[in-house]
Amino acid sequence: TPNQASLSERHVPADLPERIQHYINGEFVDSLDGSTFDVLEPVSNETYVQAAAGKKADIDRAVEAARKAFTEGPWPKMLPRERSRVLHRIADIVETRGDRLAELESFDSGLPISQALGQARRAAENFRFFADLIVAQSDDTFKVPGRQINYVNRKPIGVAGLITPWNTPFMLESWKLGPALATGNTVVLKPAEFTPLSASLWAGIFEEAELPAGVFNLVNGIGEDAGDALVKHPDVPLISFTGESKTGQLIFANAAPYLKGLSMELGGKSPAIVFDDADLDGAVDACIFGVFSLNGERCTAGSRILVQRSIYDEFVEKYAAQAKRVKVGYPHDPKTEVGALVHPEHFEKVMSYVEIGKSEAKLAAGGGRPEGFEFGNFVAPTVFVDVPPTARIFQEEIFGPVVAITPFDTEEEALELANNTKYGLAAYVWTNDLKRAHNFAQAVESGMVWLNSNNVRDLRTPFGGVKASGLGHEGGYRSIDFYTDQQAVHINL
Ligand code: NAD
Repeated sequence: TPNQASLSERHVPADLPERIQHYINGEFVDSLDGSTFDVLEPVSNETYVQAAAGKKADIDRAVEAARKAFTEGPWPKMLPRERSRVLHRIADIVETRGDRLAELESFDSGLPISQALGQARRAAENFRFFADLIVAQSDDTFKVPGRQINYVNRKPIGVAGLITPWNTPFMLESWKLGPALATGNTVVLKPAEFTPLSASLWAGIFEEAELPAGVFNLVNGIGEDAGDALVKHPDVPLISFTGESKTGQLIFANAAPYLKGLSMELGGKSPAIVFDDADLDGAVDACIFGVFSLNGERCTAGSRILVQRSIYDEFVEKYAAQAKRVKVGYPHDPKTEVGALVHPEHFEKVMSYVEIGKSEAKLAAGGGRPEGFEFGNFVAPTVFVDVPPTARIFQEEIFGPVVAITPFDTEEEALELANNTKYGLAAYVWTNDLKRAHNFAQAVESGMVWLNSNNVRDLRTPFGGVKASGLGHEGGYRSIDFYTDQQAVHINL
């Protein structure tokens, strides 16, 4: 039938690598024990490549290279302006390769191509931003007249361990690589095992930008092996981690004996609160984008929508109708708004929540595979309404195109519902009452709030969550703080 999708219509990029290797001390290498793991693409769920499966011995090699580049190489001692030039070159190269990057990312992760392209641009901007910030960096100086002058020495810390998830992998890697490198550290990156393809491009980009060998090292592999060895390596004094809260807890414990510096960007179940005086159509549009963009695999997804009762029925009706119009399709199709979820394991998890939801609340849109897609990890945008706050689909991070809508009566009740999960990453508030918007932002338990606006970031602002959503902040000079030591120097006058 014309509606029936077929695997032969999917896009397979030309010139895929024959295998994905580690990159250590300026060279592509396999695992010392030769082991590999399968990498699947999410439309066919077929294995398209083998990636080197790093173990402790491979991490040891990478950390050794990074340590040598830190203690003996030029990178940490270079002037900020010199490092900044390299970072700007990296940004230029990422920009010029945006189309190819997006093509590979979309193929490997299932993200819609139009959104993967946006993420590639953000990756370039992350490098450009920290390239600019590091030359503008100033540090405190204090004077006690006639007694003392005191100032701050800022120093790179050493080998930074960077562990990243599979949602928007290239962009999230750049969010850590940019500031870690700008501040003069050397790094070992352990990207997510579901999506190693785009990370394999960093090596070529960095070589072309003339980053010295050994400054950037990449070890692929399973979290419990390669990631674990990086966290437990005594010569890696800081770990920047983005991933699930459960994994964050484990890493926190594993890093404790070494008293490592930790930055934790974890899960979320962020509320979007829509008051009855809001611009209703604007709120509907933003709440659609907020949970269905990036396939719903977005840490800051507005996956719980709380709607004031007087506009609840109207909101639900408009929202469900619009959710049904969201275009699910092949990731490579520029018209696609929701692609394929990253991996069959994750697909099963999201589908199991769809089934749980059916027993907990009322289904208003979606609820399974989209029509025509009998293969791959496709999920129709799914809307549950009248969701009680005790429901698992209200409390737990689903990380897919599934949203829970719940009514409220008063502002107090909205706040109570908004804060009623273990997470606290983002919140979105829709109201035309200026005072209420600001007071609600102050009271809501979240690291970030967007008032009457879509999720658009300003890289100077703190990024991070409260409660189970994270520890510490990155963004702007806070990233510089995380990746550097600050030493106070005192001089008697
Ligand atoms: P995950 O925790 O399963 O994996 C993240 C990374 O940690 C992967 O590279 C994995 O290999 C590694 N890892 C797993 N176990 C490890 C261990 N024991 N020791 C060391 N490393 C280990 O997360 P995921 O499923 O890849 O990503 C989705 C999650 O990430 C969601 O919860 C999402 O909300 C969160 N996330 C948060 C942010 C944020 O900025 N707050 C951004 C994106 C994603």
